[in-house]
Amino acid sequence: MSPSAVVPSTVHDGEQDVNLTASAIDHRLTENDQSNGSTNGQNALSSNGQGNGVAQPNVQELNASNITYTFTKEPRDVPPPGVHSIDGSTISTDHMITVAWSAKSGWGTPELKPYGPLSLMPTASVLHYATECFEGLKAYRGFDGKLRLFRPDCNAERFLMSSVRISLPSFPPAEVEKLLLALMAVDGPKWLPRDRPGSFIYLRPTLIGTQSQLGVQAPAEALLYIIATLMPVMDSPVGGMKLHTSPDDMVRAWVGGFGYAKVGANYGPSLLATQEARARGFGQILWLYGSEGYCTEAGASNFFVLWKTKEGKTQLITAPLDDRLILPGVTRRSVLQLARERLSDEIEVVERRYTIKEVLEASSEGRLLESFAAGTAFFVCPVSLIHHREQDIQIPMGKAGEGGPYTLKLKGWLKDIMYGNVDHPWGIVVQEEH
Ligand SMILES: *Cc1c(COP(=O)(O)O)cnc(C)c1O
Repeated sequence: MSPSAVVPSTVHDGEQDVNLTASAIDHRLTENDQSNGSTNGQNALSSNGQGNGVAQPNVQELNASNITYTFTKEPRDVPPPGVHSIDGSTISTDHMITVAWSAKSGWGTPELKPYGPLSLMPTASVLHYATECFEGLKAYRGFDGKLRLFRPDCNAERFLMSSVRISLPSFPPAEVEKLLLALMAVDGPKWLPRDRPGSFIYLRPTLIGTQSQLGVQAPAEALLYIIATLMPVMDSPVGGMKLHTSPDDMVRAWVGGFGYAKVGANYGPSLLATQEARARGFGQILWLYGSEGYCTEAGASNFFVLWKTKEGKTQLITAPLDDRLILPGVTRRSVLQLARERLSDEIEVVERRYTIKEVLEASSEGRLLESFAAGTAFFVCPVSLIHHREQDIQIPMGKAGEGGPYTLKLKGWLKDIMYGNVDHPWGIVVQEEH
């Protein structure tokens, strides 16, 4: 091929004529919106998730109301509180939901069935090219006896965003939300018994490319599944969470990358640093970015600092979303919303880039007030120490040593919503089957 044949005529000044990734994602999300808007996700003529923009007959949209039920014949005992795994294996509830997808026929029938192994060919796309994304949210047994999900709409929407980022199919997010409710309606009553108010279960929606084809391409077959698992309480480690800053030669995510998507490819490569930090007595890595050392995330949680500015203002600060480096956490978003709604006369809430140097400086000038990690798994977890290049930054942990006053206040408000101590639109009640 002559060089001129590969240079598009519209390219000027060395710029790409189109932004391929952004336009591909926009294209598929618009398509999905259109199909939702016009059909409420129930119509066979809507998007097939492959993004060709042509409505095809016989290509089924994801439809939760078609769900079939096959109940387990070997129900297992619910372990006592505090037991979450056996021999290193996470304990899951009795059932799971699976839905197969193919480019040809679209989404298959959602099946609720006994929890158990999946069957995949060794050539399956996910095993080679990390065509995998996932979600994490909890179901909470309230103090009023009801079972709730916390903002499942936000998780379902993020699930869609992650899926299209890695060329997995699109779907109406509301259908995923219905599937989450369906699984909890069946397994909730037994696995989160009413006599254990204040307990939770962790839901893990997952989407994988299953096509058994080694060619490097978008998979034409996929599997969506949802499991419900037991998970320990991690929001109150004795003495607070201790963070170790990321090594100079490693980043978790980068501008132009996919740190904002909950795709498996973000996590495997981060385990080496985390393992090393754990061996040195730290809980998580505080991931820094760039030569400036911007603070981004603490492990798989968003990271917050509360400090006095040089001007004397009390400020809650966290990394921004606009550069797409960090995962847009539902907990992060909720913390910011509550802080802005309820604390705006006391503290300023800002989302901007800030560096570990600024945190060090605030510490040495006595302006560092509180810090916490926020995410579904760690909930709101007070941070007591950051180790950065031979230095320990100590962070006040409040009078009782359980976290600073604003940290505990925000955590308490979220807890009240999750466990139904207050009525709030973020708490979605599961209609349980008895
Ligand atoms: C899941 C996750 C979070 C937290 O998001 P939530 O929606 O609050 O659970 C933060 N950072 C990373 C890297 C994550 O994977």
